[in-house]
Amino acid sequence: MSAVVIDGKAMALSLRAELARKAAAFTARAGRPPSLAAVLVGDDPASAIYVRNKGVAARAAGFDSVEHHLPASTGQKNLMALVARLNADPRVDGILVQLPLPDGLDSGAVLIAVDPAKDVDGFHPLNVGRLALGEPACVPCTPQGCLIMLRHQLGDLTGREAVVIGRSGIVGRPMAALLVRENCTVTIAHSRTRGLAEVCRRGDILIAAAGRPELVRGDWIKPGATVIDVGINRLPAGIGKSRLVGDVCFAEAVQVAGAITPVPGGVGPMTIACLLANTLACACRRTGIDEERLLAGRPRP
Ligand code: NAD
Repeated sequence: MSAVVIDGKAMALSLRAELARKAAAFTARAGRPPSLAAVLVGDDPASAIYVRNKGVAARAAGFDSVEHHLPASTGQKNLMALVARLNADPRVDGILVQLPLPDGLDSGAVLIAVDPAKDVDGFHPLNVGRLALGEPACVPCTPQGCLIMLRHQLGDLTGREAVVIGRSGIVGRPMAALLVRENCTVTIAHSRTRGLAEVCRRGDILIAAAGRPELVRGDWIKPGATVIDVGINRLPAGIGKSRLVGDVCFAEAVQVAGAITPVPGGVGPMTIACLLANTLACACRRTGIDEERLLAGRPRP
């Protein structure tokens, strides 16, 4: 058996196209585009690429996107002052602070300072708590993208056994909370879990977010399961070259699973699309515009 390969790139393109139509309708109603402010501190090359890609995607979809790049020497006080300014700016709908922050800066204090109504990453403790309680919340982008792919593949998730490997605040924990909200029976596995392979084999749904290259082998997967591979691991591939692999051994898993996301081209593209979705949702809530009705009466392209 060979699994269906879930095309995250195509799904993200279609979501971004819908968001672009909604952004145009929002702009016509509000008299300004939905807007995202990204804060980057220091010169970490990967963070700079992430922030640039988010800005490019936002502008391509008709959003306003402003990047605030501060030097690595920035003190906590100045960073907090910038967040306070963005909180108070009525034209800013979404704020993201790119992590990790340089050593010496307290990311917890910064994340709690972001206005929860503009918290497009869903990292503010108020949004974390709302999600844990099953209340409407800004949901972190990566697990939100995983859920969209699962719903697309499986429809109603009620009653399914889901296993999430990883318990980080960015992926594992919010993913588990979302799956509980979808009426799944959820197991969270982590670095101290005993008999991980056995635990994984219980999952009708298996989410791998451990950051360990090809940790999940083919015989860890329940036949027919849907496997979402969140991991992004760069391995050396000859002199000066590297290749990306996920947390799942794709070649083995594809023989056993019912459906699987590839790396690259799976979860990654959906994460940025969900950032735009969160920004639009924040913009609509802040302006009292009903997002559900934004495209009402408009012909589909
Ligand atoms: P993290 O390091 O914060 O958390 C990793 C989690 O995995 C921890 O809870 C740890 O207990 C668990 N873990 C580690 N080794 C394990 C093992 N051998 N067995 C079982 N559990 C183990 O990482 P994170 O921020 O949650 O990211 C996880 C992976 O997802 C990374 O590869 C990261 O690059 C990737 N990621 C991808 C996206 C995307 O958009 N595709 C977004 C965020 C993170």
